[in-house]
Amino acid sequence: MAYDPNNVFAKILRGEIPCNKVYEDEHALAFHDINPQTPTHILVVPKGAYVNWTDFSETASDAEIAGFVRAIATVAKQAGVAEDGYRVLSNAGVNANQEVAHLHAHIFAGRKLGRMVP
Ligand code: C5P
Repeated sequence: MAYDPNNVFAKILRGEIPCNKVYEDEHALAFHDINPQTPTHILVVPKGAYVNWTDFSETASDAEIAGFVRAIATVAKQAGVAEDGYRVLSNAGVNANQEVAHLHAHIFAGRKLGRMVP
């Protein structure tokens, strides 16, 4: 799927629409989900233009990939949920109900989570 530069996270990255930011570095931006499913629900978004794990893994630099992974762990620690535990989830494609076509990871935390079921 071709990357749409007008997807909502691209607009957030360009500062065209606001977000409740919790973290930013060279490679990633993290902000609170507008429709939280758990007491802590943060989205971590790589700054590059990637739809999902396919184009990210095939075309992002090693530094971008490492930066995105590190940002997820840093955000969890900074949010104070690393000790008690959290879930990282990323929807990719139609069958996973990916709504926003810019790669992102959800961090769910703040309560005991249910078991993973498809
Ligand atoms: O993984 P998926 O693409 O389905 O999730 C997109 C997420 O982006 C949703 O949880 C939605 O609440 C969130 N969102 C947001 N801010 C926006 C638009 C969507 O936090 N402006």
